[in-house]
Amino acid sequence: MISFDQLPGNAALKNSLQNALAGRFPQAVLLSGDDAAGLEGWSLTLAAGILCESAGRRPCGACLSCRKAAQGVHPDLTVIDEGENELKVDLARRIKAENAIIPNDGPRRVTVIRHAHNLNPMAQNALLKELEEPPAYAFFILTAEQPDALLQTVRSRCTRFALEPPQQTASDEEAAALLAPYLAAVAARREDRMMLAALALEKPPRRALLGILGVLQAALRDAVFAARALPQPPLQPALAEQTRALARTVPPERLLAVYDFIDELTDRVARNAAAAAVTCALTSDVYRLCFQ
Ligand SMILES: [Zn+2]
Repeated sequence: MISFDQLPGNAALKNSLQNALAGRFPQAVLLSGDDAAGLEGWSLTLAAGILCESAGRRPCGACLSCRKAAQGVHPDLTVIDEGENELKVDLARRIKAENAIIPNDGPRRVTVIRHAHNLNPMAQNALLKELEEPPAYAFFILTAEQPDALLQTVRSRCTRFALEPPQQTASDEEAAALLAPYLAAVAARREDRMMLAALALEKPPRRALLGILGVLQAALRDAVFAARALPQPPLQPALAEQTRALARTVPPERLLAVYDFIDELTDRVARNAAAAAVTCALTSDVYRLCFQ
């Protein structure tokens, strides 16, 4: 049965995705991680969740849509998997043409592009507009073992989620407990306390920091929704108090600037940025983006 419960580890990511599926799910998602087989399971579960007919937890695993997705026979789910072959511009054109036709079964269509880092630059450019302004029914899930190989313009149009080897992730509770003092310090405009909290984030193994930065981005997204009074179930309910406080102190456009900055920081951490540089980024750079 197709379900998030079948996937190992990554509790924080699981929580973020399930909460996102309960609301207005982003139409373009980039799922990255080292493990191609792991990415396959996650992308399929996510696709089933987008297509699922249940009003409750999605994917439910039981409705006709979930069963078709699990059997690989859903007419509104296209999975592109060319292994490590180059993905060329004619593929991008084919995707565009397919998406011009309304879905068969339900209100949505999902295109999964596996090994998206193999899209050549011409194909990526051809997909840009489709990713930016897809028809209301069209959803994209790109998976990539080397997300840095994608053009920045493509990456920035996708909501990014990073998958980690299960044994190296911080649990959702751990990440929230570590981030709560940091977010509270930002909301209180206390750079000194931000520094202490940022130092505490550096303690877990390096890989876990990537997950924590992912939870931080989810919390920033919650704060933007709170600041704009948009009804949306929070991605990180455990940090709801801190995100509301943040929404009261920092204007939404600045929160979005911090969100983008955390994207860059994630890339730097993935490339083994020095701990001191990360602490500095989370302290003086974030302070400047919020308040100066
Ligand atoms: Zn279902």
